[in-house]
Amino acid sequence: MTNRTPPLGETSGLWLAVLAAASGCCQCRGACGKNHAKDGGRCPREHGGYQQHHGGGTVRLIVAPVDPAHLLLPAHRAAALPKHALAAWCPTCHDGARTLARRHQRTTAPAVEPDTLFDL
Ligand SMILES: [Zn+2]
Ligand SMILES: [Zn+2]
Repeated sequence: MTNRTPPLGETSGLWLAVLAAASGCCQCRGACGKNHAKDGGRCPREHGGYQQHHGGGTVRLIVAPVDPAHLLLPAHRAAALPKHALAAWCPTCHDGARTLARRHQRTTAPAVEPDTLFDL
């Protein structure tokens, strides 16, 4: 299995460069919500490796922004990020981190309720 399809749709080799910098492993250090404590604090999933959970099959790493907040960027904005702002993610961590980022975005959004709880 060496089918390394660049998910960001770029042609510059960025995807491969990021993956190489990550040694072909998921770079998640807990952004997905799991602390990966039993794996030394970093997700051990390897590109092309076999995953026992989540339906099995071959792990395909995704190149996506390091900063979970940037995971919510539209694809064309994410693709414009420099290499150092990108990381390799396994799909499970990518999904988890994105879900958390979305939740975080919602909870940090400015409150729209009128401030009339205390009518003095
Ligand atoms: Zn992972
Ligand atoms: Zn993770």
